[in-house]
Amino acid sequence: MSYSNDMYKAIILDHVENPRNKHKDHTNYLYQTLKNPSCGDIITVYAKMDGTTIEDITYDVSGCSICSASASIMSDLLKGKTIEEMETILSNFNQMVMGNAFDEDLLEEAICLKGVAEVPTRIKCATLGYKALKEAISKGGAITNE
Ligand code: ZN
Repeated sequence: MSYSNDMYKAIILDHVENPRNKHKDHTNYLYQTLKNPSCGDIITVYAKMDGTTIEDITYDVSGCSICSASASIMSDLLKGKTIEEMETILSNFNQMVMGNAFDEDLLEEAICLKGVAEVPTRIKCATLGYKALKEAISKGGAITNE
């Protein structure tokens, strides 16, 4: 499959305008807040675990369109995946944004962010949500009481 840059932009815009998996029920969710000072992005990612499976992902994001779209895409992509699958997808995503070889099939819609590899200052915007999710899960125990 090959997509044009216009299609990538359309996917990003769609996720900015219609963010997926956004809700305010954070009971029993692990969470982590991360900032990207160079752009001003702030994100909190919440994950609900069922054993080693990520049952649900939601987030609050205040940031640029790359950061917002990436979080929305991530929530669709990693929901229902195991921690091990998340690690594999995450390492492919990191390879992609650094401009290295990666498995397109694994990343699904997230490949629309491929272009950030050409704009190094935006790499952090694209990876911030993934980083927050990984930290939320690996820290464990940080359950919200909201
Ligand atoms: Zn940003």
